[in-house]
Amino acid sequence: MFRDRFAPSPNGLLHLGHAYSALTVWEGVLRNHGEFILRLEDIDTARSRSEFEEAIFEDLEWLDLEWSTPAMRQSDRLDIYWQAISQLDSLGVCYPCSCTRADIRNALAAPQESQPSLHGQQPDAGPYPGLCRNRPMSTLSENDAIRLDMLKSIKLLGGFDALNKLHFDEVGESHSGRHHLCASTLLACHGDFVVARKDVRTSYHLAVVVDDAEQEVSQVTRGEDLFGATAVHRLLYEILELRVPVWNHHRLIRDETGKRLAKSRNSSSIRSLRKSGLKPNDIREMVGIPYDR
Ligand code: GLU
Repeated sequence: MFRDRFAPSPNGLLHLGHAYSALTVWEGVLRNHGEFILRLEDIDTARSRSEFEEAIFEDLEWLDLEWSTPAMRQSDRLDIYWQAISQLDSLGVCYPCSCTRADIRNALAAPQESQPSLHGQQPDAGPYPGLCRNRPMSTLSENDAIRLDMLKSIKLLGGFDALNKLHFDEVGESHSGRHHLCASTLLACHGDFVVARKDVRTSYHLAVVVDDAEQEVSQVTRGEDLFGATAVHRLLYEILELRVPVWNHHRLIRDETGKRLAKSRNSSSIRSLRKSGLKPNDIREMVGIPYDR
């Protein structure tokens, strides 16, 4: 069955960009007689608030969208994410990391002879330099994050050639087609990314993959700012042996000056537009998805 999802983080009011995303998902679901899934990505406990969660329900209902199962809340699922971390641990592809941003910056600014140089990159812009890479998971302490060992992951999946054969399909218009993963790009651009933060034992990358798989999402619609993360998500699908969806990255809605809308920009929040007297179809027209297309 076709299932697509809208997965906002309840750390601010929804704005026109969210409306565009949610309506894009909704229209696709209607066309394909599928299901609309709502998930609250609230693992950022410092910024997520229940009042924003309420506002999300209110705005989506006002836009006349319906979700088929109760909304999933990531903060309820920390045990499930920990199971995925344990799976990575049993495969030997993750390690604890106590590095601060300053540790990482310093290491990148002064590469050791044994470390590859970061040809032409900003000193603090390279992938994680691997300071904790040899630490076993048995040394995990409260103050550690957990990173995926990218090289070991590539080896686990059969090495560079096998990895380069993995692919994902994209239906969004700017990147439409089949995309192959590239082991050297994964190493150079993403490196040993964080699969569990120290404050909450998961990360966006891990949670989004585990949840989309569990909710049997067949198409992942989201903003094109996340296109670059899709390769690491695809890699996690492979390691965790989960069913791979199709991706649909859409354009971002920008303000008059061409800047991306941010949640802090109250002026474009759905709530304030609604209070100023606009109707759902006005919002649809503003984002280019009118009822009567
Ligand atoms: N939670 C993310 C956001 O609100 C969306 C992530 C996703 O759709 O994969 O921007």
